[in-house]
Order: sequence, then C-alpha cells, then structure tokens
Amino acid sequence: MSEISRRLGLRPIVNAVGPATRLGGLPLSDTVLAAMADAVSANVRMDELEEAGGSAIARLLGVPAVYVTSGASAALTLAAAVCAVGADTSAIDRLPSGGRRRRAVIQHAHRDPYDHAISAVGLELVEIGFPGSTRPQELAGVLDDSVALVLWRPGRSGDLLDLATVAATAHEHGVLVVVDAAMDVPPVSRLHRMVDDGADLIAVSGGKAFRGPQNAGILCGRPELISSVALHHQDMDIREATWQPSDITGLTLVRGRHGIGRGMKVGREQIAGLLTAIEEFVALPEGWNDHYTAELAACAAALSGCEDVVTTSAHNEHLDVPVLQVDLSATGITADAVVRDLDAGTPRIHVDEEVAWRNTLIVNPMALREGEGAIVGARLAEIVGATISRAGPQS
Ligand SMILES: *Cc1c(COP(=O)(O)O)cnc(C)c1O
Repeated sequence: MSEISRRLGLRPIVNAVGPATRLGGLPLSDTVLAAMADAVSANVRMDELEEAGGSAIARLLGVPAVYVTSGASAALTLAAAVCAVGADTSAIDRLPSGGRRRRAVIQHAHRDPYDHAISAVGLELVEIGFPGSTRPQELAGVLDDSVALVLWRPGRSGDLLDLATVAATAHEHGVLVVVDAAMDVPPVSRLHRMVDDGADLIAVSGGKAFRGPQNAGILCGRPELISSVALHHQDMDIREATWQPSDITGLTLVRGRHGIGRGMKVGREQIAGLLTAIEEFVALPEGWNDHYTAELAACAAALSGCEDVVTTSAHNEHLDVPVLQVDLSATGITADAVVRDLDAGTPRIHVDEEVAWRNTLIVNPMALREGEGAIVGARLAEIVGATISRAGPQS
C-alpha cells in the first residue's frame, strides 16, 4: 500500500482496467520516476524545455514536430485553438470568442465525450453523416472558411470516411484536420500512417500505451502549426524589455500573454517523464508482452474451475494489448453485481466494464503488478462460486 493511502485512509485498488484516468493511470517505471525527480532538481525556461523536449520526442517517433501537453485532451484543445486563430495575437487573447473560423466538423460516428476539448475554445461542433455511415458529399457540403477543423477518430466501425479522404477533401477547402489518436498510438506505425494520410495535427495520450505520466500527452504535426501552440499555452507573465529569445529556437513568445491553454500547464517532470517513457517504449516496443500474457494466463487459470464462467483471450485493438474476456451470462449473476462485489472486497478490484452491458467483464493487464492476475481471477471465482451456492444447484 502506498504511504499516502495509509496516511489518508484510502483503500488501494488492483487495477485490471488499464490506463484509466479515474484510477490514476498506470504504474510508472523506475527509470521514468527517476527522470521526473531529476527534472525538478533545477529550474529551466519552460518554453525552452518544451522546444527541446518536443524535438527530442519528434526525433524518437519519426514525426515532423511535437509539443508536450498535459494529456491528449489538452492537446485537442490546443490544436483547436491553433486551427481557429493560429498565431494571431489579438485573436488568441479573445478566445473562446471571436475568430472567423467558428465551426468544427465531425462525422456522427466519431462523436465522443472528449469533444468538450474542441468546444472549449468556442468552436461549434457540426455533425455530418449518421451512426453507420458518412458520405463524401456530406463532408464537402459543409466545408467553407467558417470551418476551423475536421476532427477524425480512428477505430470507429461503419461505412465512414477514412482519414485520407477526409484530409484530401478538407485541404481542397483550406481546412485543417485534427486526429484524436489518444488511445491508438502506440503502435508508432499508426502515427506514421496518419501523417502520411494527411493529418495536420494528431493528439496522443502519454499516460496510455506509452506508459508515461498520467497527465502528459503530445500534439504532433506540421512544424508551422506546432510552433504556434506555445502562444496558446505558455505562461508569458514576462517583461518584453528583458525577455530574451529562446536558446533553442530563437523564438520570443512575447506577443501573447496567457492563452486559453494556460490552465493546462505542463511541469518539468511531465516533459522529462514522457520523454523517458517514449525512449523506453521505442527501445523495446514488445517489452511488456510476456508480463501481459503471464498475468492473463494466471487469471484464466484461477477461473478454470468455474464451469459457468467462459473466458476468452481477446485483443484491445485501440491499445494494442491482449485482454481476457470473462463472460458471466451462464452464471445467473449480472456483471454489474460482480463489479460491485469486486469493489467492496479486499483487495478492492476494478475491471474493464466496457461490455458489462452484455454481462462480460474484461481484464486488462496493463496496470497489473506481478501476481495480481491470479488475485483478480481467484476473487472473481470466489464471487461467482458464493452466489451460485447461495442460489442452489441450477436445474
Ligand atoms: C483517453 C482519451 C482522451 C484523453 O486523453 P488524456 O491523455 O487522458 O487527456 C481523448 N480521446 C480519447 C478517444 C481517449 O480515449
């Protein structure tokens, strides 16, 4: 148990959900934690750390330019701000009001609660298409110079417009394309594909499959757009007479003051921690696979005695990790009741409830420590076994 849990009387959680913000994200490696502690041992100019850290990450990932944000959601907000007003200082000061480009276009099937990140800068979301399909002319028909961006999300099913089609159409009309790839990168090859398909800006979470700090992320994309992000983000509480050009790029961010992204500040430790996590990932992309396989196998083994519980190996396509599906349909217990029991027990366990509506729970191994897969399986078996024996033998 962590010291803070002990001091404050919190019940720690065995996390079989994965990189969930509501649970605080994934454990950080010792190397990442050491880099974070080291980063706060001295002060630097944050705009210079951003510029140098961003270009180091861009080189590691093989993309044109990167800006480190406080998460993918913040990256989307900063992207929307850049698409709406670019580097226009007086317009930056007026956000979320003003600006000629007031609208953001999105396919109906791509809607998501994270759309707040876009509307936060004052853009009105314009939906095109239907849940199962979008047609090219539905996109072309809404594009004009009142549109700041088209937002695109990977991994949605249906007869939808792919990224290359969206980018080609948007660019014909002088409109930028922003991709919310928060949960879909790594694999890094997907990022390259999005750049090749014409995405102008791509938001990626640092705390999901990169295993970086929970409150870190990146905005990747075209250098001329990335170079405007700082104007919307950095704290420029400085004196113009004394503030010198950056040692790294020679830029002087004195034009703006506090942009709309000032509340999404990034610390030294987030940049150092994310850079180190991405270095670790790029050096050994498959580094966690054996651990994942072992924990899921131990979980399935612990459940093998419950004949009414059907376990199936599956793959989370977004995060690109193996998972274990635990189908409870034959047990006579609802997945929701099992989830409540898991939360009430010791240890307190949380599992992925994405398909709990069809009585299936998912064990995601990304946050499991060694031995915890077996603990999750044993506790699930105990809950199911106790309920079945209370109900008596089924005919
Ligand atoms: C997780 C997620 C985000 C937010 O990412 P953070 O790094 O937590 O800000 C945005 N969009 C989608 C689709 C996500 O899954």
